[in-house]
Amino acid sequence: ITRDLESLSHLPCETLDGQRLPLWVNTGLMADVTRSLEQGAEGVGLYRTEVPFLLRDRFPSEEEQRQIYREQLEAFAPLPVTMRTLDIGGDKALPYFPIEEENPFLGWRGIRVTLDHPEIFLAQVRAMLKANAGLGNLRIMLPMISNVAEFDDALALIQRGHREIVQEGITEPLPPIGVMVEVPAAVYQARALARRADFLSVGSNDLTQYLLAVDRNNSRVAELYHAFHPAVLGALVAVAEACRAEGTPVSICGELAGDPLAAVLLLAMGYEVLSMNATALPKVKKALRSITSNEAHEVLAEVMLLEHSSEILKRLQRLMTERG
Ligand code: PEP
Ligand code: MG
Repeated sequence: ITRDLESLSHLPCETLDGQRLPLWVNTGLMADVTRSLEQGAEGVGLYRTEVPFLLRDRFPSEEEQRQIYREQLEAFAPLPVTMRTLDIGGDKALPYFPIEEENPFLGWRGIRVTLDHPEIFLAQVRAMLKANAGLGNLRIMLPMISNVAEFDDALALIQRGHREIVQEGITEPLPPIGVMVEVPAAVYQARALARRADFLSVGSNDLTQYLLAVDRNNSRVAELYHAFHPAVLGALVAVAEACRAEGTPVSICGELAGDPLAAVLLLAMGYEVLSMNATALPKVKKALRSITSNEAHEVLAEVMLLEHSSEILKRLQRLMTERG
């Protein structure tokens, strides 16, 4: 079976009737890079920049960051690399930047921290933009956006960082700027966000946690964390429709994208890129190569009428056992 899956790495990710769905990877460590390229990844949908920050005992300087980001961009060039701006807080605490809160997942995290500390944000953005010089495969993505003002403020800072490095002689144009949809408010404002951003990417890990009010790391309530909850699927459909209406590319970079059963639904919903851990790539590709886009649409229409996560899961499992 492993051999069978490995041989897939050079084949395109497409349905039996030839509908393409590019598979990208989520990265953080340099070790992810080789594995991703071996598996035939077509881009990076989420580079978690907090990883190099977590491996240090102080904030990396702008120049240190530039070197780290350059390595990522070069390894994948000319394939696109989506770098998420620092997403600390929640469950990710930097030892040298402690945040003490009673409800960290509802507190100071992601874009909230970096908009309050524009010096941290600007150093990171400038490092990314400098690393992109002569390559041009960078995309920047903003985590935990819950209103349009946060996007506008972040964009203004990115534009300022870009003006500064242009003055320093770097001529690369401003890269695409995207928004993570991982807070329920962003689902309901998806059109407004899609009008402003160059792309939207669903962070289904946090979106599921916040939609269902289930801490993604709390084992006591883990049974309630239903990845296939009808409300989650409804939100995913709404985001895809909002993006289609605005002509904005839409992708997903949460764990759900790496589940072959979900991939079939995401294709039918209109997601244009699925980004996942490199290890999930072969099985998702295998699943998508075993169905037609019509079948995907039929099964999506069916499961959207079901009211229980367990029924949805059963229906999807039936489809996949039929396909072997
Ligand atoms: C997500 O929330 O789905 C996501 C991709 O980001 P993270 O898991 O890093 O919060
Ligand atoms: Mg998240």
